[in-house]
Amino acid sequence: MANESIPYKIYLSEEELPQTWYNVRADMKVKPAPLLNPGTGEPMGFEDLRPVFCDELIRQELDNDTREIPIPQEIRNFYKMYRPSPLIRAYCLEEKLKTPAKIYYKFEGNNTSGSHKLNSAIAQAYYAKQQGLKGVTTETGAGQWGTALSMACSYLGLDCKVFMVKCSYEQKPFRREVMRTYGASVTPSPSDQTRIGQKILSDHPGTTGSLGCAISEAVEVATSHPGYRYVLGSVLNQVLLHQSVIGVETKTALDKYGIVPDIIIGCAGGGSNLGGLISPFMGQKLRGEQDYRIIAVEPASCPSFTRGRFAYDFCDTGMVCPLSKMYTLGSGFIPSPSHAGGLRYHGMSAILSQLYHDGYMEAVSVEQTKVFEAAEQFARVEGILPAPESSHAIRVAIDEALKCKETGEEKTIVFGLTGTGYFDMVAYEKFHNGEMHDSIPTDAELLESFSHLPAVPGQSK
Ligand SMILES: *Cc1c(COP(=O)(O)O)cnc(C)c1O
Repeated sequence: MANESIPYKIYLSEEELPQTWYNVRADMKVKPAPLLNPGTGEPMGFEDLRPVFCDELIRQELDNDTREIPIPQEIRNFYKMYRPSPLIRAYCLEEKLKTPAKIYYKFEGNNTSGSHKLNSAIAQAYYAKQQGLKGVTTETGAGQWGTALSMACSYLGLDCKVFMVKCSYEQKPFRREVMRTYGASVTPSPSDQTRIGQKILSDHPGTTGSLGCAISEAVEVATSHPGYRYVLGSVLNQVLLHQSVIGVETKTALDKYGIVPDIIIGCAGGGSNLGGLISPFMGQKLRGEQDYRIIAVEPASCPSFTRGRFAYDFCDTGMVCPLSKMYTLGSGFIPSPSHAGGLRYHGMSAILSQLYHDGYMEAVSVEQTKVFEAAEQFARVEGILPAPESSHAIRVAIDEALKCKETGEEKTIVFGLTGTGYFDMVAYEKFHNGEMHDSIPTDAELLESFSHLPAVPGQSK
């Protein structure tokens, strides 16, 4: 097998690092629905968003038309420290599975933050700095986004206040210390430092927190401290835009060898890595130039695409953020404390939600024990110790490769390997000890959660 002319790793040169981000919205006939003001139900414009977000990031958020957006030189310079990231041919995994499928993965874990999140963190910190701000606030689930943002802020000399979902804060003390090493302050959420945190604590004593709660707290602190803005590591259009660097590099690398994928797979929490990976391929699909199967993989414990509603909902538990039209489990939904912290979000990117709704992509949900089986199988042959989030994509890549084995089809599969799992060893330990359980919400739990979706004109419950 290894006598093929495709190298194990397809590297690009520094010069081949993308000059522009690709904005897939420009090619969407049906644009993602606008953010709505939770008070008035009106679409939110530039001025409405200014108290919360940095100006340039709002422009990117609202820009549905510009196809290519130049990557500022300072951001490209930062990218050059860890990009272009390799596209790796999983020869060893193929051999182990005895599949005729050709499997490639784009590896984003090759930086200290350990994930793709740094791609957007540096961009968001850069625009905050450009605007002359003192600092930024944010939430973090598993800790990767907080780590990435801490690194970007320390590089640019910005203050960074992180609200970390309480169960992760407790499960992952080392993540917290990495963030503090880069100078960030880290507070477990819900906390008693914000009004919304106090309310959540009194309504749900003993809660392990959720990304939705932590977002509310971070927004409250940003809007009540002069010189601060809130930044978010996923879900938003601007984040998918920054993450398109993953997809543009992947496409450039594949094109070099004339490889056309049949299936593209990524895990989906808020949708940023998947959205970034698929953007240029989706663009071709939208323009009718090429067809691909695109598969989003989500945890069975937090199944936004596969069991959620496509509806306007709050992005946060505290209901202070704008309303976004997306696949959602309801902003009050608190998923069971699974080990893929980065996928524990009730909603989904508005861009991906619209594309899924319009039939341009598929979604599947997988149980965490099956995910860890795939993670271990992958680690043993490919060497990289994958993050639990990334392993959702591995699971489905393996499943698709095994289907090829049955049918004899030589399909080309590309998946996003978003990060490494060194800070997730408690989860691996639980898996090895047989103490990992799959928890799947019941229909009744979801119906209860949907009953709290906000009333928006033209939207039935
Ligand atoms: C945050 C994270 C994810 C999920 O977030 P998306 O915005 O859906 O990409 C996936 N993998 C890793 C390693 C992460 O840190």
